[in-house]
Amino acid sequence: MTPRPQRNLSKSNAQFQRALKRLPLGVSSTFRYWGEDRTIYVARGKGGRTWDIDDNCYVDYRLGYGPAILGYADDRVDAAARKGMDVGGVFALSTERELIVADRIAKMVPAAELVRFSNSGTEAVMAALRLARAHTGRESYLLVEGGYHGLFDAAMWQADVEGWQEGGNTDPEVVPYGKGIPPTVRSLVHLTPMNDAQRLEDMFRRHGNDLAAMLIEPIQGNCCSIMANAEYVHLARELCTRYGVMLIIDEVKSGFRVGKGGIQGILGVTPDITTFAKAVANGYPIAIVAGREDVMRSFRYGGASHGGTYTAHSVSLAAADECLRILDETPALETLADYGERLKSGISSILNARGIVHSFSGHPSMFGLFFAPEPPDNYRAWKTSDYSFYDRMAHYLHDLGIICEPDSREPWFMCEAHGTDPTCLADTLRAVETAVDL
Ligand code: PLP
Repeated sequence: MTPRPQRNLSKSNAQFQRALKRLPLGVSSTFRYWGEDRTIYVARGKGGRTWDIDDNCYVDYRLGYGPAILGYADDRVDAAARKGMDVGGVFALSTERELIVADRIAKMVPAAELVRFSNSGTEAVMAALRLARAHTGRESYLLVEGGYHGLFDAAMWQADVEGWQEGGNTDPEVVPYGKGIPPTVRSLVHLTPMNDAQRLEDMFRRHGNDLAAMLIEPIQGNCCSIMANAEYVHLARELCTRYGVMLIIDEVKSGFRVGKGGIQGILGVTPDITTFAKAVANGYPIAIVAGREDVMRSFRYGGASHGGTYTAHSVSLAAADECLRILDETPALETLADYGERLKSGISSILNARGIVHSFSGHPSMFGLFFAPEPPDNYRAWKTSDYSFYDRMAHYLHDLGIICEPDSREPWFMCEAHGTDPTCLADTLRAVETAVDL
C-alpha cells in the first residue's frame, strides 16, 4: 500500500494557534477552517496555483469559490485595477465607468436590460429579493432545495430531509441553516425540490398568488453543480409569468463562467432579475443585480431602496471592465472549459482503470464528482448518497498538492490559467492516481 503523503504544515499550524486567540476558529470564514492541523494560511496565488506559508504549492480548484476565472493575480486585470486605484476609490457619487461596465454586461446577457452594482453576492441577492417584493407588493418567496443565495436570514433555509413527505401535497418542513436565524422569517419561505415539475406546479397552485419571487440557481454551485433540466427551468418561467412572480436566476457562481451569457443563455430562459458576482472582476469585490427594465426601475425614491457606501468602487469597476472585456473578446472561457473536459476525462480514465463507478455533474468549468453511476438531480439524492470516499480523497489530494473543497457539494472550478499552464493537468492527474489508491 502507498504510504500516506505528508506535507510540512508547521508554519500554518503555528499560525493557526496564534490566530485562534484573535479570530474565531482562527479564520475569517467558517468554511476556511479545515481542522486544527489542516487549516492552511495562504502566502500567495498566481495563475491556477496557490502557495501556503510553508511554501507548499497547490493546483487550486477552489479558486476562492470561483472568482479567479482567469487565474490568481492576472496581470491584465491587476494592471487595470491599479489604474482604478488612481481614480480615488469611493465618492458616494457616480463615475463614467459604471455605464461602460453596465453596457458590457447588457451586451453579454440580454436579460440584463438595466444594471445596479453591489459588493458581494449576498448583497446582490438581498437587493434582488427586495426589488421583487417592491415590484409585486408581495412578501413570501420560493427557494429551490440545495441552492445557496448568501448569508442573510431570508436565504438560509433548507428542507428537513426526514420531514419531507414523499408524494404529499404539502410543504416540506423548512429549517434554518444554523442558529441566529429568527423563526419569524420561516412563514415567508417556501421550498421546492430541484427538477420535480409536479411539486413545482403544486407549489404555485397553493402559493403562487402570494409569492414575490422564485429564486433558482440552475446550476447549483453549492450543491455539486446539480443541474436544473431545461424543462424544469422553462416550467418555472411559465409559472412565474402566469402568477406574476419574479423569476430570479442567481448566477453568482455560474455568471460569466459557464458561458458569456451565463446558464440562462445555455438554457434559453429569460429571468426577470439576475444576480452576478464572482467571476465578474477576477476576484475584486463587485456584484450585480440586473434585469428587466420595468422591474429594475423600482429602484427609485419611494420604491425599493438600494445603495451602499462601496458600491461601484473605482478599483472593482476597473477590474470588472477589463475582466469582462477579456471574457467577451478572447477565448478564455473556451480555454478553461476545454481544460475542464480534459481534466474530467483524465480522472475518468484513472477511475475506470480501477473499476471505480463515478459520474460528473454540471459544466466543465465548474463540475461535481460523484462516486455513483449517475449524478444526483436534487439535494436529497446527494444527501442520501455515500460521499465519504470523496471526502477522504479530497483530504489526500490536499496532501498531494491539489486544493479542492473537502465537502463534495463544492464543485471543482477551472480558470484560464489552468488551461495555459503546461503542468497543471499532469500534476493533478498524478495526484488523483495516488489519492484513489490510498
Ligand atoms: N449566491 C450564490 C449562488 C452563491 O454561490 C453565493 C456564494 O457562494 C452567494 C449568492 C453569496 O455570495 P457572497 O459570498 O459573495 O456573499
